[in-house]
Amino acid sequence: MRFYVPTDIYVEKDCVKNHAQNLLAVGKRAFIMTGHSSAKKNGSLDDVIAVLDADHVPYQVFDQVEENPSTDTVGNAAQQAREFGADYIIGIGGGSAIDAAKAVALLLANPSVDADNLHKAPEKPLGHVPVVAVPTTCGTGSEATPVSIITNHKIHLKKSIPHRIFPALALVDGKYLASAKKTLIINTAVDALAHMVESILNVYSNTFNRMCPEYGLKLWGEFKDALLSNSPVDEGLYEKLMLTSTIAGMSIAHTSTAVPHGMSYDLTLHQGTPHGPAVGYFLAAYVEVCEKKVPEDVKHILALLGLKSTADFSEMLYKLIDKCKVSREMRDKFTAAMKVNRPKLDLVPGGITPEEVDFIYDKSFITE
Ligand code: NAP
Ligand code: FE
Repeated sequence: MRFYVPTDIYVEKDCVKNHAQNLLAVGKRAFIMTGHSSAKKNGSLDDVIAVLDADHVPYQVFDQVEENPSTDTVGNAAQQAREFGADYIIGIGGGSAIDAAKAVALLLANPSVDADNLHKAPEKPLGHVPVVAVPTTCGTGSEATPVSIITNHKIHLKKSIPHRIFPALALVDGKYLASAKKTLIINTAVDALAHMVESILNVYSNTFNRMCPEYGLKLWGEFKDALLSNSPVDEGLYEKLMLTSTIAGMSIAHTSTAVPHGMSYDLTLHQGTPHGPAVGYFLAAYVEVCEKKVPEDVKHILALLGLKSTADFSEMLYKLIDKCKVSREMRDKFTAAMKVNRPKLDLVPGGITPEEVDFIYDKSFITE
């Protein structure tokens, strides 16, 4: 058994300011990557720039990372980072900005790799320049995973690239959630929930790496009523939401995500569904399928969340993210692709049959 998260992680209020020296130690010329506007509005970009300015560190900001970042965007950013002479990348934002920062860190260190070839397995592991991650959503945990999920629109593929890129440093501050709408908090918290559930219901789950999802699911159970209520999320919960997301990232860093994530990518690619709900739609049916194979694990997950049955779990997700509507044609297309997705299917404890794959789609979709 092995436990490996080589990222230096701080989770606390004002942690960019508090750990300025750690940030400054990472490199000498920073290339900062953000989404279009949120990092400017929630104060995270200002916090990072204040640290760099105080030490006269040159930096350049790239604020063009779109949701579900593309090979075109990371190729373009890598070109700019190269021209600027950056020696490290700071990703500030949701999973999209941080994943894009990781891909650019790899491209910067490997000028011969074309962004369009990022999904091709390398002959030997490739290096990357260091990455600093400052998350501003509470879902992907990308600050604590080696994963970078990139979309290549030319070949209609959304998938993690095969390179492992752990950030060198993660500065996690719940205060950046203050500007987030409740829907964004719910959507991303559902992603974190899926990371922990898929990490336990996974052939790579073991007593050592279960420490993370078991603790994180307990935290998730403590804030689930706040997510389900009609009131805004109390600011006192921001740090717990962020911490849970980072712990969920540490969970999948050891096991990888399983079937619900494998099913989500086509939904996002073809229907533009945000990542959290795209995963969450499939989660209850996946848990139901696993209940037949590893009943004790499912019982344990439900107990940690403070739920009694898989029906309660399903009802909770339905209240949070509703159900997904797809056409019959799309449903059949997604199902056919998933039935040959061996890397994800092989992660199911006890295996999964084609009929069970059909069951998950039929239970999760309203087909029109
Ligand atoms: P996201 O795509 O990064 O961001 C979603 C939206 O939220 C954007 O419009 C963004 O605006 C906005 N936003 C971000 N922080 C905000 C804040 N504090 N307040 C208000 N708005 C804010 O969403 P995400 O769910 O975090 O990331 C999804 C991506 O991560 C997907 O591509 C998914 O596949 C990937 N993912 C990666 C991992 C991993 O381990 N690497 C794991 C799971 C998922 P701006 O565009 O203006 O910033
Ligand atoms: Fe995810």
